[in-house]
Amino acid sequence: MKQRLATVWLGGCSGCHMSLLDMDERLLDLSDRVDLVYGPLTDIKTFPENVDITLVEGAVDNVDNEEKIRLIRERTKILVSLGDCAITGNVPSMRNQFTNDDVLQKAYVEQATQDKGIPKENVPTLLTHVRPIHSVVKVDFFIQGCPPPADVIHFALTELLEGRRPELVTTRFGK
Ligand code: SF4
Repeated sequence: MKQRLATVWLGGCSGCHMSLLDMDERLLDLSDRVDLVYGPLTDIKTFPENVDITLVEGAVDNVDNEEKIRLIRERTKILVSLGDCAITGNVPSMRNQFTNDDVLQKAYVEQATQDKGIPKENVPTLLTHVRPIHSVVKVDFFIQGCPPPADVIHFALTELLEGRRPELVTTRFGK
C-alpha cells in the first residue's frame, strides 16, 4: 500500500522544495510508493489526517505557521525538518535581533517603492522570535543543508519509506 506523504513550506525561501524537485526522474519511482496528499504542488487547502511522512521546510515565524505546525504534528506519524531554516531558524531568524515593529517598518515603508504602509489585515502576525520547528513540536528526523542536496533527501526519504532510520540524521530531540 502506498504511504501518504506531505510536504510543507513555512518560513523559508522554497529552496528546499526546489532541491526536492531536483530528484528528477527519481520522483517517478517515488510516485509508485507514495501518495502526495498535501504540499505546494497540490491545491489542497487543509492539511489532511493520517499522514505517514511530512517534510517541513522553513522556520516557525508567524502565528499562522505556529498553528499549522501543531496541526501537522497531530496528523503526522513521522515529522521531518527539511533544511537548516527548519532545524536552526537559519536565514529567517536573522530578524530576531530586531523588533517586529522595526521589521515591518523596514519591509513595508522604508523599502517599499509604492503603496507604503504596514498592512492591517491579510498578513499573519509575526512571532516575536523566529523559532526552529523542534522548539514548537516534536520532530522525528532532521535533514541538514541549505538546501539539503537532492541525493540526501532521496536517501533519507527512501530509508523512511523502508521503515529504516537513516544514519545521516539525528532522531528525536526537542519537545
Ligand atoms: Fe531556503 Fe536554505 Fe532555508 Fe531551505 S534551508 S528554506 S534553501 S534558506
